[in-house]
Amino acid sequence: MSTPSQEDYVEAIWLLTQEKGYARVTDIAERLHISQASVSKMLRRLNAEGLLELERYRGMALTAQGIRQGQRLLVRHQTLERFLQHLGVSDPQMVYRDVEGIEHHFSAYTLEQLTALVHYIDENPTWWQHFIQNLPEAK
Ligand code: CA
Repeated sequence: MSTPSQEDYVEAIWLLTQEKGYARVTDIAERLHISQASVSKMLRRLNAEGLLELERYRGMALTAQGIRQGQRLLVRHQTLERFLQHLGVSDPQMVYRDVEGIEHHFSAYTLEQLTALVHYIDENPTWWQHFIQNLPEAK
Protein backbone atom coordinates (compact mmCIF):
# COMPACT_ATOMS: atom_id res chain seq x y z
CA MET A 1 0.00 0.00 0.00
CA SER A 2 1.26 3.52 -0.70
CA THR A 3 0.57 6.22 1.91
CA PRO A 4 -2.61 5.08 3.66
CA SER A 5 -5.51 7.51 3.66
CA GLN A 6 -7.64 8.43 6.62
CA GLU A 7 -10.18 5.87 5.41
CA ASP A 8 -7.56 3.12 5.54
CA TYR A 9 -6.93 3.93 9.20
CA VAL A 10 -10.59 3.88 10.18
CA GLU A 11 -11.05 0.61 8.29
CA ALA A 12 -7.97 -0.95 9.91
CA ILE A 13 -8.99 0.15 13.43
CA TRP A 14 -12.48 -1.26 12.94
CA LEU A 15 -11.14 -4.52 11.51
CA LEU A 16 -8.69 -4.95 14.40
CA THR A 17 -11.42 -4.14 16.91
CA GLN A 18 -13.59 -6.82 15.31
CA GLU A 19 -10.79 -9.40 15.24
CA LYS A 20 -9.14 -8.80 18.61
CA GLY A 21 -11.52 -6.64 20.59
CA TYR A 22 -9.06 -3.72 20.55
CA ALA A 23 -6.63 -1.88 18.29
CA ARG A 24 -3.14 -0.80 19.28
CA VAL A 25 -0.74 1.59 17.58
CA THR A 26 1.67 -1.29 16.84
CA ASP A 27 -1.08 -3.40 15.23
CA ILE A 28 -2.22 -0.52 13.03
CA ALA A 29 1.36 0.29 12.00
CA GLU A 30 1.96 -3.35 11.10
CA ARG A 31 -1.24 -3.72 9.13
CA LEU A 32 -0.73 -0.54 7.12
CA HIS A 33 3.06 -0.98 6.78
CA ILE A 34 3.89 2.42 8.24
CA SER A 35 5.71 3.85 11.24
CA GLN A 36 4.15 4.14 14.67
CA ALA A 37 4.82 7.89 14.52
CA SER A 38 2.60 8.20 11.44
CA VAL A 39 -0.11 6.21 13.20
CA SER A 40 0.01 8.44 16.30
CA LYS A 41 -0.27 11.54 14.15
CA MET A 42 -3.33 10.20 12.33
CA LEU A 43 -4.95 9.05 15.58
CA ARG A 44 -4.85 12.64 16.83
CA ARG A 45 -6.52 13.75 13.61
CA LEU A 46 -9.25 11.10 13.88
CA ASN A 47 -9.76 12.21 17.49
CA ALA A 48 -10.09 15.85 16.43
CA GLU A 49 -12.67 14.83 13.84
CA GLY A 50 -14.77 12.98 16.39
CA LEU A 51 -14.13 9.51 14.96
CA LEU A 52 -11.90 8.18 17.71
CA GLU A 53 -11.55 8.47 21.45
CA LEU A 54 -8.06 8.24 22.87
CA GLU A 55 -7.92 6.91 26.39
CA ARG A 56 -4.75 7.30 28.35
CA TYR A 57 -4.55 3.80 29.77
CA ARG A 58 -6.99 1.80 27.70
CA GLY A 59 -5.80 2.76 24.24
CA MET A 60 -8.39 3.86 21.73
CA ALA A 61 -11.98 3.26 20.73
CA LEU A 62 -13.92 4.40 17.69
CA THR A 63 -16.85 6.69 18.48
CA ALA A 64 -20.32 5.75 17.23
CA GLN A 65 -19.60 7.85 14.13
CA GLY A 66 -16.22 6.13 13.71
CA ILE A 67 -17.84 2.70 14.00
CA ARG A 68 -20.45 3.55 11.36
CA GLN A 69 -17.71 4.73 9.03
CA GLY A 70 -15.56 1.67 9.80
CA GLN A 71 -18.46 -0.67 9.06
CA ARG A 72 -19.18 1.09 5.78
CA LEU A 73 -15.52 0.97 4.72
CA LEU A 74 -15.13 -2.68 5.62
CA VAL A 75 -18.27 -3.64 3.69
CA ARG A 76 -17.00 -1.63 0.73
CA HIS A 77 -13.66 -3.46 0.86
CA GLN A 78 -15.37 -6.84 1.11
CA THR A 79 -17.80 -6.06 -1.71
CA LEU A 80 -14.98 -5.08 -4.06
CA GLU A 81 -13.03 -8.16 -2.97
CA ARG A 82 -16.01 -10.33 -3.77
CA PHE A 83 -16.44 -8.65 -7.16
CA LEU A 84 -12.81 -9.32 -8.14
CA GLN A 85 -13.17 -12.94 -7.00
CA HIS A 86 -16.27 -13.24 -9.19
CA LEU A 87 -14.16 -11.91 -12.06
CA GLY A 88 -11.83 -14.85 -11.52
CA VAL A 89 -8.97 -13.01 -9.80
CA SER A 90 -7.80 -15.87 -7.61
CA ASP A 91 -4.47 -14.59 -6.26
CA PRO A 92 -5.33 -13.13 -2.83
CA GLN A 93 -2.38 -10.71 -2.99
CA MET A 94 -3.60 -9.35 -6.29
CA VAL A 95 -7.15 -9.03 -4.97
CA TYR A 96 -5.88 -7.15 -1.92
CA ARG A 97 -3.64 -4.79 -3.88
CA ASP A 98 -6.30 -4.04 -6.46
CA VAL A 99 -8.98 -3.39 -3.86
CA GLU A 100 -6.65 -1.12 -1.88
CA GLY A 101 -5.94 0.77 -5.09
CA ILE A 102 -9.53 1.36 -6.21
CA GLU A 103 -11.67 1.40 -3.08
CA HIS A 104 -11.37 5.12 -2.32
CA HIS A 105 -12.57 6.19 -5.72
CA PHE A 106 -16.12 4.85 -5.80
CA SER A 107 -19.03 7.23 -5.45
CA ALA A 108 -21.81 6.07 -3.13
CA TYR A 109 -24.09 5.50 -6.12
CA THR A 110 -21.61 3.41 -8.13
CA LEU A 111 -20.83 1.35 -5.07
CA GLU A 112 -24.53 0.73 -4.48
CA GLN A 113 -24.96 -0.47 -8.07
CA LEU A 114 -21.90 -2.70 -7.83
CA THR A 115 -23.13 -4.13 -4.52
CA ALA A 116 -26.44 -4.99 -6.17
CA LEU A 117 -24.55 -6.75 -8.99
CA VAL A 118 -22.41 -8.75 -6.56
CA HIS A 119 -25.51 -9.87 -4.65
CA TYR A 120 -27.27 -10.74 -7.89
CA ILE A 121 -24.31 -12.87 -9.00
CA ASP A 122 -24.27 -14.59 -5.60
CA GLU A 123 -27.93 -15.49 -5.96
CA ASN A 124 -27.88 -16.28 -9.70
CA PRO A 125 -24.49 -17.77 -10.43
CA THR A 126 -25.30 -19.62 -13.66
CA TRP A 127 -25.37 -16.76 -16.18
CA TRP A 128 -22.27 -15.26 -14.62
CA GLN A 129 -20.33 -18.54 -14.77
CA HIS A 130 -21.33 -18.81 -18.42
CA PHE A 131 -19.96 -15.32 -19.03
CA ILE A 132 -16.69 -15.95 -17.14
CA GLN A 133 -16.07 -19.33 -18.75
CA ASN A 134 -16.45 -17.84 -22.20
CA LEU A 135 -14.11 -14.93 -21.72
CA PRO A 136 -11.07 -14.98 -23.95
CA GLU A 137 -7.87 -16.15 -22.20
CA ALA A 138 -6.22 -13.32 -20.27
CA LYS A 139 -2.84 -12.37 -21.69
CA1 CA B 1 -9.23 -1.48 2.45
